[in-house]
This record gives sequence, C-alpha cells and structure tokens, in this order.
Amino acid sequence: MNVIQTMAAGTPDGLQRLRETSQSGLTLCFPGVGSAFARQNDPTSLIVAKKGVTLLVDVGTTIPRVLSSRGIGIGEFDYYHVTHSHADHIGGLEELLLYSHYVLNKSPRIILPQEYKETLWNHSLRGGCEHRENGTFQFEDLAEIIIPEQIAESPRGLYEVEVGGIGLTIFRTVHIPTEGDNSGSKFWSTGLLIDGRVMFTADTRFDPLLFEHVPMDNVDAIFHDCQLYEPSVVHASYEQLKTLDDGLRGKMHLTHYGDTFLKFDPSSDGFVGFAQPWAIYQ
Ligand SMILES: [Zn+2]
Ligand SMILES: [Zn+2]
Repeated sequence: MNVIQTMAAGTPDGLQRLRETSQSGLTLCFPGVGSAFARQNDPTSLIVAKKGVTLLVDVGTTIPRVLSSRGIGIGEFDYYHVTHSHADHIGGLEELLLYSHYVLNKSPRIILPQEYKETLWNHSLRGGCEHRENGTFQFEDLAEIIIPEQIAESPRGLYEVEVGGIGLTIFRTVHIPTEGDNSGSKFWSTGLLIDGRVMFTADTRFDPLLFEHVPMDNVDAIFHDCQLYEPSVVHASYEQLKTLDDGLRGKMHLTHYGDTFLKFDPSSDGFVGFAQPWAIYQ
C-alpha cells in the first residue's frame, strides 16, 4: 500500500472520487489518524473502497464534520463498522442513525458481531436513539445490521463477512483487558483484516500474539495503534512497537497518534511512517 495522492480540504464529492479511484484496486483513506485526545489530527477513522463500494470504519464524535471537509455526507457510505465503544470511535453513530432515519429516510448497513451489537445498543446508543415521537426504536429500526460469522473462538475470536466484494476478518483485540490475557478481555474491541491484505488494529495494547493468531501470509500493510508516550496502559507504545521484528515494522504505518509526532522519525526506526490524514493508499 502506497500513497498515490492526497485529498485536499475543500475537495467536492470526495467519496465519489474514492469510488472512482477504487475501480483499479483496494483503496484506503483515513479522515483522521489521531488519538482520542489529539488536537492536530482528528480521531482515527478509515474509509475502505473497492470497485466503487465504500465502507466507513469507526465513526468518532467529530467524524461527520471531518467528512464534510471533503464534501462527504455521513450517510453516503454503503457499509459501516465500528471497532469499540470509545467516543472517538462511536460518538458520531447517533448522528448517523438519526440523520439517516429522519432526513435520508434510510437505514445504514452496519457490520457488527452479534455479541457487540447488543453491547453497543444497550450501553451506548439507546440513551440518545431509543425514544421516538410515539413509542421506542429497537436498533434494527434504525440500521440494517450485518452479522459476521464467527470462525474461531480460540486462541482469539475471529469473525468473517464479505460485503460488496470486500472481504473482512474481524479479530478480537486487547485494548482494555480486565483479566490480563487475550481471552479474558471483557471490554469489546476488535481490529480488521481487509481482503487478507491489510491489517488495521484499531485500538490495542502491545500484543505480539496478534500476529500469530491472525493469518498474516498475504498482509502487505499494517496500520497499528501507536501511543507516543510512556507508560502504555491501553495502547501500544512507540517504544514497544520498535521491539517487533524488521519484517513487521517494514509494513507498519502508525495510527491513533498524539500531537508530539513531529518529534519522531518512524522511518529511521524501521516503520513505514505515520499514516497521513486524507492520503489515498492503494
Ligand atoms: Zn481510540
Ligand atoms: Zn479506545
């Protein structure tokens, strides 16, 4: 995956441009590459496009506004997926659901493993979305939920689905572990393998076993969570990622990073570099 161009602020109809670009192959673009607390960059969010089909991965609180800087409406994507329930990843979902229902008159298609679907609705979305003019909404009244098939429980939960020709493997991650190991993490968090080629970890602690549990044979790009300060508690730190072998670092773009990034030179440490906002990767 290389940067083929960057989408400038003010670009009209940015999603159409990504749809066209994706006719020649799997295309990625990050509206945000920052951490939850970053101010220089918007929170990490990923657009996947292939043969004109588009998927938005993670919809943080500010993402609807960020998308509008490139003429993209929050309701325009063919599919959506969210990785975990922190606000920098799901805070814009209420807007997506209510805007789609009341203004666009449609239901967004959201990819969610069954177990997480219940958690997301009951613990995060119900508060703002449940009540209507007369009666109440269920999640399914506001979204078309696509449930991936679980293909492994151990040593790590894996789920698979294909949407519009995009193959997705969803893998459990250890972002906020509650019992100290991969299987015991009660806080739901996942990353994605896209077409078997691109790994996007979303938020995770340093977790080298991930690269043994997820099929890496055809992976040519890894977009990995990276915290720039120590100690690392719920994210992988730059110093920890530096200890991975050359082969992994040589495919690794850093995401979810904080505002001190100018003090770092990832390519001198064997990484590809910091993922860049609105760069188009193909
Ligand atoms: Zn985050
Ligand atoms: Zn998080």
